[in-house]
Amino acid sequence: MHYQPKSDLLNHRIILVTGASDGIGREAALTYARYGAQVILLGRNAEKLQRVCDEISALGKATPLMRILDLATVTPESCQQFAHELAQQVPRLDGVLHNAGLLGEIVPLAELAPEVWQQVMRVNVDATFFLTQALLPLLLNSDSGSLVFTSSSVGRVGRSGWGAYAVSKFATEGMMQVLAEEYKNRNLRVNCINPGGTRTKMRASAFPEEDAQKLKTPAEIMPIYLYLMGDDSRRKTGISFDAQPGRKPGPAE
Ligand code: NDP
Repeated sequence: MHYQPKSDLLNHRIILVTGASDGIGREAALTYARYGAQVILLGRNAEKLQRVCDEISALGKATPLMRILDLATVTPESCQQFAHELAQQVPRLDGVLHNAGLLGEIVPLAELAPEVWQQVMRVNVDATFFLTQALLPLLLNSDSGSLVFTSSSVGRVGRSGWGAYAVSKFATEGMMQVLAEEYKNRNLRVNCINPGGTRTKMRASAFPEEDAQKLKTPAEIMPIYLYLMGDDSRRKTGISFDAQPGRKPGPAE
């Protein structure tokens, strides 16, 4: 995507990123901060999250807020509690990037352990729903809120072996479409990003044989992440965007 954001694109915007400790989420948090946003970092690993927090502070940007939340164990109540506490610290959320995700195991569905199925659904679908429900009031306090989900090419066309992960990403696309319809006359847009093959820990575990150097880095796919959080996308809703349009799904060639 060719997008040239203004350097103050996200000034005065407050954006929450899940899975901000690593990979694409870490890069998104750093990028949003660089473009002026006050960021709220969510993750399960305090040490890793603190490192991202320190990197953002070192940029001389607004000090991020940091919250530990393990999406494998959250409940509707703990998400409501989290949102309640957050509302004491920030007046609104202008953006939420649901980025945290779990791959599970790449095996045929017939062999997939039910526990793995449940873990993947818990993190990728249930926790995303619980958190969204809890954060909607803060998002609706913004005059132009942006809710972004993270999809995958296997969330559009199923692929053998991708089991629970693929099904969870179909559910993510569905959640985005339902919410986009429900809020189409309000000040909240709802969209998905499919990052496409990107050089991260998750990608390496899905394709251990792949030459990672042939993949885009998280930094290279940031234009769409910026576009969807800034005013240029104000009228876009209900869309599943590709961070790498034209890229063929599957291993890098
Ligand atoms: P990484 O594995 O590099 O990062 C995943 C992030 O999610 C980490 O911050 C991780 O935390 C966090 N996370 C995982 N489980 C939990 C949990 N239970 N509670 C809280 N946080 C959790 O993955 P990517 O950056 O590659 O993936 C980001 C998103 O992009 C995912 O939704 C993925 O499905 C999607 N995606 C990625 C593609 C790729 O090629 N990389 C392609 C298509 C989609 P921790 O640091 O503690 O592990």
